Amino acid sequence: MSLAADADAALFPALPGTEPAGPPIDPRFEGGTAFVDGEYVPILEARIPLIDRGFLRSDATYDVFHVWRGYAFRLEDHLDRFERNMGKLHFKIPYAKAEIGEICLECVRRSGLTESFVLMTTTRGFGPRGTRDPRLCTNRFYAYAVPFVWIADEAARGRGFNLHVSGIERIRPQAVDPTVKNFHWIDLTMGQMEAYDAGCDTEVLVDSEGHITEGPGFNVFVVKGGRITTPEGGVFDGMTRRTVIEMAAELQNPVTERLVAIKELVEADEVFLSSTAGGIIPVTQIDGRPLGDGQPGRLTKRIHDLYWGQKAKGWLGTKVYG
Ligand code: PLP
Repeated sequence: MSLAADADAALFPALPGTEPAGPPIDPRFEGGTAFVDGEYVPILEARIPLIDRGFLRSDATYDVFHVWRGYAFRLEDHLDRFERNMGKLHFKIPYAKAEIGEICLECVRRSGLTESFVLMTTTRGFGPRGTRDPRLCTNRFYAYAVPFVWIADEAARGRGFNLHVSGIERIRPQAVDPTVKNFHWIDLTMGQMEAYDAGCDTEVLVDSEGHITEGPGFNVFVVKGGRITTPEGGVFDGMTRRTVIEMAAELQNPVTERLVAIKELVEADEVFLSSTAGGIIPVTQIDGRPLGDGQPGRLTKRIHDLYWGQKAKGWLGTKVYG
């Protein structure tokens, strides 16, 4: 199948809402379903103990995939990444990769969702009373499915984001490995506060040498003279980022992964963000100054439409129901 042909489909197509699917569901599970300590429970009834180090110390890793039109996007890739990251943090849980996948899909089914956000997490848990040795902790696995969550809905994507370049540094990769999806979000959250104060939609954090890194839940791409680049190192290897890199290669427009200076972002022809929570998100202003003609760029739209067009067909998807 030619991806390029699909890219010429209607721009910014209407997106479907969330509709229940499959057999009738227990209404208690309508807002979402969690799996915690071996049981499926309605999302608002899910609990972990206060003394779990995941909560106390951000001692956890997680992964998020999404279900679109009843298909789980890149499930196997998410499970691989989650397993790899659990290994990096020395976590051990009693579920094999396939079981984790099945638990996640069961959370979706019990919630009756066709468009869903699905999260899997392992926390350090806690150890015997009176010790702080992480090796003695019993790790805890939980998962949940909730209705799809947007960073940018269709209207926001149509007009594009006003992106703030924050003065806040992203936590250094030498301190916390950003490829291990983690709860260390204070830098990102403070950046959001700064962005809202500046009248912007969101922000990108920087490193100590004047390069851009990433934002709260997304990676960043910069287009100049038809060439696409994205920061390498010091960022999470987002699944949507990976998908963009693969799509761009199919479109004969390979993405370069390297350090990207703030100046390159500010002087770009086009900028877009990539996230599970919204796919491809055009940026049309940087700190209130229009990029190009202030409209979503040509390459951005092409990749946006390709992403959504392909996903509507169940591309790279695992069927959740039936
Ligand atoms: N960067 C950070 C810090 C994130 O938390 C996320 C997702 O939550 C991303 C990038 C984008 O990753 P993905 O495309 O897998 O959603």
